[in-house]
Amino acid sequence: MKMTKQEKYEQRQQKKAAKAEKERAERELRSDKQRKTDLKYMKSAITQAKRAYSKGEVPIGCVIVRDGKIIGRGYNRRNTDNSTLSHAEITAIRKASKELHDWRLDGCTLYVTLEPCQMCAGAIVQARISRVVMAADNPKAGCGGSIINLLQMDQFMHKAEVERGIMKEEASELLSRFFEELRVKKGEEQSAQIKNDWIN
Ligand SMILES: [Zn+2]
Repeated sequence: MKMTKQEKYEQRQQKKAAKAEKERAERELRSDKQRKTDLKYMKSAITQAKRAYSKGEVPIGCVIVRDGKIIGRGYNRRNTDNSTLSHAEITAIRKASKELHDWRLDGCTLYVTLEPCQMCAGAIVQARISRVVMAADNPKAGCGGSIINLLQMDQFMHKAEVERGIMKEEASELLSRFFEELRVKKGEEQSAQIKNDWIN
C-alpha cells in the first residue's frame, strides 16, 4: 500500500521525535553519571577540609582528578606553614604536577570546597585545568564568579569549565562550625578577624 504524502511526513516526524528522546535520555544519563562522580570527589575534598579543621586552620580542601584517579590533594595550612601560598588548591596543583611530571594539568578536574581566591583561580588558569567543581560560594572574595570570574575570562587563552554548588551545604556547615568554635574559643573580635581574612 502506498503511503500518502501526509503519512510519510508523519512517519518522518515520529522518527525525529524518537531520536530526540533517545538523545535526551543519553544526555541525562551522562549528567547523572557526572553528578555521581562529582559527589564522590567532592567528598574527598571535604575530607581534606577536615584535615585543615583538625589543625585549627580554616577548613578548605581540594583534590585534583585525572582519568578517575586522585593525583593531588591539599588543604589549607596557611598558619601552620606561615605562608600565603599554602592554600588548598596551590598544594593540590603542586602535587598533581609532580605526579604527572608536567605543569600542564589539562584533562584534570579540580574539586574545591570553597570558591577559589584570586591567587588560586590564577594558578588554575595557568595550570590549564580543564574543569573546576566548587562547593560553597565565597560572595565577598571568590574569583570563580562571585567578584570576578578569572576562570572564564574571554581575554585569557585558557578557560575552565565550572560547576558550582556540589555539596555546598556540607562545605558551608563545616566553615560555620569552625568559625562558631573559634568565636567561643577566641572571642568575637579575633574570630571575626580570622573570618574576614578568608571570607571577606
Ligand atoms: Zn586561594
